[in-house]
Amino acid sequence: MKPSIYGLTFEQLSDWLVDHGEKKFRSKQVWDWLYQKRVTDFDDMKNVNQSCIDVLKENFTIETLSEEIKQESEDGTIKYLFKLHDGNVIETVLMRFNYGLSVCVTTQVGCNIGCSFCASGVLRKHRDLSGGEIVEQIMKVQQHLDEKEKDERVSHIVVMGIGEPFDNYDNLIDFLKVVNDKKGLSIGARHITVSTSGIAPKMYEFADEGIQINLALSIHAPTNELRTQIMKINRAYPLEKLMPAIDYYLEKTNRRITFEYILLKDVNDHVKEAHQLADLLMDKKHLSYVNLIPYNPVADNPYERSEKEAILKFYETLMDRGIKCGVRTEHGTDIDAACGQLRSKQIEKEKARKKAKQEKAGV
Ligand code: SAH
Ligand code: SF4
Repeated sequence: MKPSIYGLTFEQLSDWLVDHGEKKFRSKQVWDWLYQKRVTDFDDMKNVNQSCIDVLKENFTIETLSEEIKQESEDGTIKYLFKLHDGNVIETVLMRFNYGLSVCVTTQVGCNIGCSFCASGVLRKHRDLSGGEIVEQIMKVQQHLDEKEKDERVSHIVVMGIGEPFDNYDNLIDFLKVVNDKKGLSIGARHITVSTSGIAPKMYEFADEGIQINLALSIHAPTNELRTQIMKINRAYPLEKLMPAIDYYLEKTNRRITFEYILLKDVNDHVKEAHQLADLLMDKKHLSYVNLIPYNPVADNPYERSEKEAILKFYETLMDRGIKCGVRTEHGTDIDAACGQLRSKQIEKEKARKKAKQEKAGV
């Protein structure tokens, strides 16, 4: 399979074209066709010379994802299930906010971090997505919006779909460079958020990138004991490794960090944990925001969603201690829009179908 053209940053494409005997300025034209006019066939690039089109066609593809399922929710959320060239499936979600249209992208097929509450974590990682496959998710959503002819543009990106972005770091950075580039989609760095489970060494690297992209850390518990219980990554990067990485990021970038805290009934949702979290963040509260996430139940999983009262108490405790926070509003709950849920269901369905087929064949 030829690699996706979307995986190349503008500079990489310019260099590649020059290396292949084409003029450097062609990259501007090609990018214009890809990201402004959004064609899906090299032959549609009208002002590009034939030899350039031929060499691009020989070496790259534009479309590598195919749409398996598209579900539109009553609140305008659209959930896409895409098939990759190797048959794996991934999810992408478009959400509507008053400030714009935000797309949640997937970075890996499955995830090896294995958080006990997460549908994706249960499914292990098959492979990393290429930078092009991550960019193409945005392109597919944008092309779908283009078809509706309402002049709608994807304005925000959250890297919060399946996978751990910092476990696929180089492809993540290429993706961010492509979507952020003014010559392309031009999605502002401040409109992009990357969420990590806390791979501390990569947090240092990310701080050093010198980009204005927002960082969210899935903290989920204020003590090592509790955090290890629900996120086994905490063994490798416990709070005493994580907090200095956060301090480094804050010092280096002076940008606010979002702490994601999934509320699991009777596990981490007591007032005690709210106080412990406030203690943990107290010295950086001016640059902290806690996003309280009501848990979306996952099949065969022991956790339950916290009671409304517990959520409110947790929120008030943090606010009283001067920690800014909010409760995440839900999108598309009627269409399995939570992290990895549509994909898990589809995989279950496939398994059941295969089993039925085998039984029928007497295997
Ligand atoms: N791997 C990264 C990014 C993808 S997960 C990370 O963990 O940060 C994005 C967010 O969705 C995380 O904060 C994660 O904890 C949350 N999440 C996972 N499963 C969930 C569920 N069942 N209900 C609600 N949020 C969930
Ligand atoms: Fe992976 Fe994030 Fe799910 Fe944890 S919450 S298993 S890191 S995708």
